[in-house]
Amino acid sequence: MELITTISELRRRLAAQRRDGRTIAVVPTMGALHEGHLSLVDAARGEADLVVLTIFVNPLQFGPSEDLARYPRNLERDAGMAAARGVDIIFAPAVEELYGTGTEVRVVAGETATRWEGAVRPGHFDGVLTVVAKLFNIVQPDVACFGRKDIQQATLIAGMVAELDFPVRLVLVPTVRDHDGLALSSRNAYLSVDQRRAALAIPRSLRAARERWRSGATGAESIRQAVAAVLESEALLVTDYIAVVSPRRMEPVETVDGSTVVAVAAKVGTTRLIDNITLEEGSN
Ligand code: AMP
Repeated sequence: MELITTISELRRRLAAQRRDGRTIAVVPTMGALHEGHLSLVDAARGEADLVVLTIFVNPLQFGPSEDLARYPRNLERDAGMAAARGVDIIFAPAVEELYGTGTEVRVVAGETATRWEGAVRPGHFDGVLTVVAKLFNIVQPDVACFGRKDIQQATLIAGMVAELDFPVRLVLVPTVRDHDGLALSSRNAYLSVDQRRAALAIPRSLRAARERWRSGATGAESIRQAVAAVLESEALLVTDYIAVVSPRRMEPVETVDGSTVVAVAAKVGTTRLIDNITLEEGSN
């Protein structure tokens, strides 16, 4: 495995691979790797000859009061995990390498970004789409893998790829959970033991939504209430939103079906966690 930090060097390496007829998959991450990221790597390996894992904590997608400074960074540990899982190249540029030419031009996310995460984190998705567009232009991958854990992000990236005609195929990977049900996240590292116990109400609330649907409920409000009841029973949690939405544009629905997505964001202390499920098990 190679660790590359400059755009020019990465381009040189990838051009040679492409000339030899190899296909390329990219897995964009912010590092602090866990099994969720590694399942994207597994998916990428099944889709292309060469796997490029990018590690970049993107300042453009953090708000002024967010956790940019304290976001966990450990390149050495990440490199070991990536190598063991079969990553061919890690691209880990410094901020100046990626944004040295300026940050005047952005990809502006559309209406889908005004809801949910976008409403709570203004400008977040413009930052995400801008860095993903840059990474697509730098790597020029055949395939790019993203997690369903960040469902609104995945939806917006799919929209960008379609609307701006990026020649890349997207693969969405199911959420990897810890044995207790908590979705793996680099931010779980911030949680104390009590906070982690409280955070388990998030996956529990999503399971309650699925149970409510299975027992015959079709009204979105009934599903939302099932989620809210579980979240509210946990004193250490502060709910940001409960979204019962269509999968394509994250629009609120009135009546649910198996494809409906239930997404939750909540704070435990200063740590903000998100999670979601599709009501029909197996379809996420
Ligand atoms: P991040 O490093 O948090 O920006 O995440 C990088 C990629 O990993 C994104 O496509 C995420 O959706 C994906 N990801 C994060 N957590 C998980 C998880 N628990 N299961 C599957 N994919 C994940």
